[in-house]
Amino acid sequence: MKIRDIQAVDVIGHGYSTYVRVYTDEGLTGTGECIHGRAATSAIIEEMKELLINENPMNVDRLFEKVRRAYIFDGALAGNVISALSGVEIALWDLVGKVVNLPVYQLLGGKFRDKIRLYSDCGGSADDPESCAKRAKEVIAMGFNAIKFDIDDLDNLYKLDHWNWSVTPGEVQLMVDKVAAVREAVGPNIDIAVDMHGRYDTPAAIRVAHAMEPYNLMWLEEPVPPENVAAMREVKRSTSTPVCSGENLFLRYGFREIIEKQAVDIIMPDIPKCCGLSEGKKIASMAEIYYIPLAPHNVCGPLGTIASCHVCASIPNFLVLEWHWLGRKHWDELVIADKPIIENGYIAVPDKPGLGVEINPDGIKKYMRPGFSFFE
Ligand code: MG
Repeated sequence: MKIRDIQAVDVIGHGYSTYVRVYTDEGLTGTGECIHGRAATSAIIEEMKELLINENPMNVDRLFEKVRRAYIFDGALAGNVISALSGVEIALWDLVGKVVNLPVYQLLGGKFRDKIRLYSDCGGSADDPESCAKRAKEVIAMGFNAIKFDIDDLDNLYKLDHWNWSVTPGEVQLMVDKVAAVREAVGPNIDIAVDMHGRYDTPAAIRVAHAMEPYNLMWLEEPVPPENVAAMREVKRSTSTPVCSGENLFLRYGFREIIEKQAVDIIMPDIPKCCGLSEGKKIASMAEIYYIPLAPHNVCGPLGTIASCHVCASIPNFLVLEWHWLGRKHWDELVIADKPIIENGYIAVPDKPGLGVEINPDGIKKYMRPGFSFFE
């Protein structure tokens, strides 16, 4: 079997996702989704395919490495080259699963669990404590037992300088009020994460982490930017609030230092953006030997989310997977499914061959980026 063609289509979701389809000379295809490479992603895939045409699609890791090494001088350390490659890699796994008639998790070593626990991102950076509490209750009523709120707000009343990364006492109090209102609304048994988006300096991060200690958070996300591992570690070691980071790191190489130095309590690779499924599993294995759980970042539509689920099923140290489509209504339109993909805050890992879910051509066509045409 040989790869005959690779095509990419941008579809609106959280910004735009890029859907990737691999075609073979035997008629079988595989489809993947990647995200956060902006408009360049589909152009990068169009160029990458020259390295992949006529290759045997069954050698997924070899093809990943072939492209990665070929792009070393063109951005293959991080960023949209890796996002594009992740989309291709996921499409290859879908194809291989269909060829051997097995679900992808089986090819990754089998599953530890049948269903994947999700947390719902609830936004909230510009919202007052009462509206955060109200949303938290609505999301819990949907069945989720874990939620996340943003507590950074560059436009809040108490922010005196838009460029420095410090916090004023009023800002800290506003963050605390939000989290306190959410905890009060959902009770003690719901997991709450809060995100600071790496927008604070070390003393500010430590102050906020301390202020969060009474609320028993699942994690405090990126209190400082992720690129300074020593600073992240200093925050982590200063507080009993668990610290999580990694949504903007790429590949094993990008996660090595933060894991080895145990600078976080939880890591959050975005699998359809930073690495694909094989590499995602390898990152999870690196974290496992340091007793660090994995809570993948994820803003993909249903196809990319289910791709992440196959990795989450196949590793012991999975904690929870993000779902970021609250308020985005076209989730169910993008795939063909006879029942909702998410039930009570969980996704059952599909048992059909490949990723186990097919995109819905009508839904994809309806939400394509202008200028794109559907797969041929
Ligand atoms: Mg985040």
